[in-house]
Amino acid sequence: AKNHGRGVRRFFEPILAAQIRDRRAVEHDLRHAVERGEFKVVYQPQLAVDSGIVVGFEALLRWRHPERGTVPPDLFIPIAEETGSILPIGEWVLRETCREAATWEKPLRIAVNVSAVQLHAPGFAELVHEVLFTTGLAPARLELEITETALVRDPVRALTALRRVKAMGVRIAMDDFGTGYSSLSNLRAFPFDKIKIDRSFIRAVDVNRETAAIMRAVLGLGRGLGLPVLAEGVETSAELAFLGAENCHEAQGYLLGRPGPMAHFIEHTREAPDR
Ligand code: C2E
Ligand code: CA
Ligand code: CA
Ligand code: CA
Repeated sequence: AKNHGRGVRRFFEPILAAQIRDRRAVEHDLRHAVERGEFKVVYQPQLAVDSGIVVGFEALLRWRHPERGTVPPDLFIPIAEETGSILPIGEWVLRETCREAATWEKPLRIAVNVSAVQLHAPGFAELVHEVLFTTGLAPARLELEITETALVRDPVRALTALRRVKAMGVRIAMDDFGTGYSSLSNLRAFPFDKIKIDRSFIRAVDVNRETAAIMRAVLGLGRGLGLPVLAEGVETSAELAFLGAENCHEAQGYLLGRPGPMAHFIEHTREAPDR
């Protein structure tokens, strides 16, 4: 057994070392990615379920690494959060998105993801204020998407920051609703304007009785609290039909539009009736 263990270790150690080196390399590259212009923002449409009209977009970050190609955010954001790189990166996303949204022909809403590290950093509310002022974007058009994990770190600090951005007229959405530890008490304790229900509760909602029961309960909760509910990750027309029948307000997902460059949507949003 001892020999076997050593054999396993000898086999895995080089891989482990390579992973650690790899992670160091990613940390290093992340520190320079903003100044090197390696990030871009793609937009995914959010639609009103009853009318099918695009009401806004979520900004999603993409990192085009010169050697690694496009690195998915689920992979680099946790590393950026641990090293603090998320602060300049998050500021870049906010500024870039508000700047672009301010040029849109229609005053649609733009949702930006905010990490726990950003929310807790000193000066977060001042940054939002300065970016709105500099870009000229109307505060009511900006929505910040916050996950519950962002609230538990230091609830008092998080609440203070959220109240300050809300006082500017910015909206706050609870992201990935239902996946956290205490979604219900967080809904009561923080000033949310919207519930974004996680896509794990949308998957097969049209055929799975348990999932359907949970969705109906969340929609009832939204009605009771006076908060609109957005369903994430809608992939099939059967899922969308369920959401329509249950009076879900908004939806987002591959069925309705994949994340893409803004130019890709300009025609689409021009065609949407606004009269
Ligand atoms: P999220 O905020 O929950 O974003 C939704 C994710 O679901 C996006 O993945 C989107 O492309 C994907 N998605 C949309 N529709 C569908 C669908 O119908 N089916 C499936 N399977 N997936 C769908 P993405 O762009 O890879 O982003 C992953 C996560 O990375 C985001 O989850 C968010 O937590 C984080 N993220 C992305 N951009 C930013 C950013 O600018 N700042 C911060 N802090 N986090 C970001
Ligand atoms: Ca989000
Ligand atoms: Ca989400
Ligand atoms: Ca997520």
